[in-house]
This record gives sequence, C-alpha cells and structure tokens, in this order.
Amino acid sequence: MARPPDYDVAVLGAGIVGASAAWHLARRGMRVVVIDASGPAAAASGASDGAVSVASKKPGVMARLANRSLAYTRRLAEAGGPLRGVFGDRPSYYLATSPAEEQALGDLVAKIAALGGPARVTADGAKAGPDGVGPSVTRCVALAGEGHMLGYAAVAAYLAQAGVDRLWPVTVEALEADDAGVTVSLTDRNLRVAKVVAALGTSSTALFPGLPVTPRTGQLVVTDRAPPGSLPGPLTAASYLVAKSASPGAPDKPPVVIDPLSTGQFLIGSSREEHGDCARTDFATVRRLAARAAEFWPALRARHVVRIFAGVRAAVSDGLPIVGPLTQSPRVVLATGFEGDGICLSGLMGREVAAMVAGEAVSAGAEADIAALSPARFSRREARAR
Ligand SMILES: Cc1cc2nc3c(=O)[nH]c(=O)nc-3n(C[C@H](O)[C@H](O)[C@H](O)COP(=O)(O)OP(=O)(O)OC[C@H]3O[C@@H](n4cnc5c(N)ncnc54)[C@H](O)[C@@H]3O)c2cc1C
Repeated sequence: MARPPDYDVAVLGAGIVGASAAWHLARRGMRVVVIDASGPAAAASGASDGAVSVASKKPGVMARLANRSLAYTRRLAEAGGPLRGVFGDRPSYYLATSPAEEQALGDLVAKIAALGGPARVTADGAKAGPDGVGPSVTRCVALAGEGHMLGYAAVAAYLAQAGVDRLWPVTVEALEADDAGVTVSLTDRNLRVAKVVAALGTSSTALFPGLPVTPRTGQLVVTDRAPPGSLPGPLTAASYLVAKSASPGAPDKPPVVIDPLSTGQFLIGSSREEHGDCARTDFATVRRLAARAAEFWPALRARHVVRIFAGVRAAVSDGLPIVGPLTQSPRVVLATGFEGDGICLSGLMGREVAAMVAGEAVSAGAEADIAALSPARFSRREARAR
C-alpha cells in the first residue's frame, strides 16, 4: 500500500517566493512544510533592494503582473495581513540626463497611464525631482503609489504568520513524482507529499536540469548615515528603464538606483554581471555606480561607503519568470526565474501558485499573462504542437 503523505505540500526554498506561496497555501488549510538548504532568505531574497515597482518593469506581461502584484501587496499590508509594517508606501523618482532617456521617461508616463494605478504620475519636468537633485538631470517623473519592502523582513513575516512546519538546513537532493504523490529525497530521509512547489531561485537547475535559468550577480553599495528624510524616495536612472527594455546602455552610465533607507543610509545598486559568484567584488563597477549616483544626488559626495555586498538573480533566457506545473509531473509546480523582480512579484505569485496547487483557476483577467510564464514554453514537443 502507498505510504500516506506526510504533508499536502512541500515548498522547496524559503526565499520570498517560497514564503509567500507557503503563507497562501496554509491559508487554504493545507498542511505545509517549507524546506531550505540554508535558512530563510539565505539567497537573493536576503541580498537585494526591495522596490515594489511597476515603473521599472518591461512593458507587457511583466508590467501588468507587477501592477497586479503592487495592488495585491498593498492589501497584504493592511491590518491583519502578513506584510503589515513590512511593505511601505513612498514616492519614487525617475531621472533622465539625455534626450534618449527623456524619451524613455515619456514611454514610462504612457505605460503608467495605460496600467491605470495604483502607481500614478504626480509631477513631470526638469524640476519635478526632490530638492538636491544634480544639475545634469533634464527631466524627472515623480510617481506616487509604488512601495518598498525588505526581502528578508517579508520572508520572516510570511513564515511567522503561516504557522507552517520548517526544515533547515536540509538540502533537497531529488524529487520523484508518481500518480499518488511526490517523494522528496532529503540529505537524511525521504518525505512523502501530495504536491511540491519548487521555489529554488538560481539553484533550480540542480533539480531541474535543462531549465534556462542562469545566475546574474548584482553588487550593492551601502553608505553611512545622513540625517533621515533628506531624500523622500528612491531615485532611479532612466537608463535602468532602457536597460530593462533594450540594450544595457553605456558602461560609464550604469542604470543606478539610489534608495534612502529608514536608517538614513543609502543603498545604491546595482550591477548586472553574468556570473553567480556573490563573493566577487568588482571595485571598478562599484566606483562607476557610486559616481553615477553622486551625479544624480550630489549630497552623496559627503557620505562614506560602509559596505559592499552582492546578491545573485535567477535570470531566464526569455526574460520572464517560470511559474506553473511541470508538463511531465503536474504535481510539481515551479516558481523560479524572478531575476530583479521577485520582491515585487512575490505577493501575486504566491497567491497564483497556491491556486494552481489547489487545482483552481488563476485570477480572472490574469490568465493569459500567467500562462505566458508556464514551463511548457520550454518544452520542444509542446512548442511544435502549438
Ligand atoms: C542586487 C539585487 C537587487 C534586487 N532588487 C530587487 C528589487 O528592488 N525589487 C525586486 O522586486 N526584486 C529585486 N531583486 C530580485 C529579488 O531579490 C529576487 O527575484 C527574489 O529574491 C527571488 O526570490 P526566490 O524566493 O525566487 O529565490 P531565493 O531568494 O534565491 O530563494 C531560493 C531558496 O532556495 C534554497 N535552495 C536552493 N536549492 C535548494 C535545495 N536543493 N534544497 C533546499 N533549498 C534550496 C536557497 O537556500 C534559497 O533560500 C534583486 C536581486 C538582487 C540580486
């Protein structure tokens, strides 16, 4: 007789995507275990900025999903929700220093209008930025309605409220799905579960070889403290928008984001490097980031760098995350490849993954965008059949 399942669902990976999925699954009354090789927020979710931003997303599927996720994340931050006190609202500013970047801001204004909220343009022009923006800035678009949450704080909040079982540090070594369930092979034992959510970030290819997920490292700079409140919200170079939509841009003008932290420090990020070594610090890149940041916000010239660290994004060959059941083993739902967008998308993705596990329809109106994320798009046989 087949062994009865130990859990309804095993969530593999305690990053922000796994933690959000676990919270949404537990809320449906499912018995959930979260398993991580290291611990909560041990990888990208603990080494990132936390912009919950629609403006920075590529137009189309990503912008529409980010817009939904921003609206939903705001609901999760209401009284009684898991992100209460973790997600915060704040103004955001997008800055151009060249005609091409001014054009990118024009496209941004059109994109935000077409999405219809919650983000909205509050000012647009050479002087629309906060006091203290550098003189080379020729156009600024100010937005309200975007927000921020620290990845590790969101993971802790989801897990604290979910009340699920946790296993770490325990590495998942293999999965074997059959008609009745999935056997999850751990370092020291096997677990039997009805379904699996695999939210393994850059390590997804260890369990799912052939997935087109590659590591992309980003370095971040932290300064010492300025008097709090000197910058009301993050400054983002318009070249960041250009880099997301088309070319990476000129190397001396990296797509920089300057994020004021509640401590009075600034978080300046971040590079995109095609390797997965988060211990490799490249001072030339950091110097370029810092120089460009000081051009936008000259007050940074009085600050000192106190820390440089790196996180590794899980990049997918076609630029979209991979979310959905595996064609060959529908008991296994993948949720990976969120590159630089996983903090923003995690709220919505947790909800949709839980619906998939429960065998329910995804959110009305989002069906086509969520179908675009399906792992089936990488199956040659299915591609031919279409
Ligand atoms: C520098 C930088 C800046 C960023 N800024 C932003 C931003 O401003 N806004 C935004 O939306 N996103 C941002 N991101 C992206 C965001 O951080 C990621 O998309 C998100 O954290 C991915 O979460 P995840 O849960 O998919 O993966 P991860 O957080 O990487 O979690 C995967 C987990 O799986 C575990 N694991 C792996 N293999 C195994 C195994 N075999 N067994 C058990 N456990 C395993 C790991 O230990 C890890 O804890 C940034 C990323 C970087 C690097």
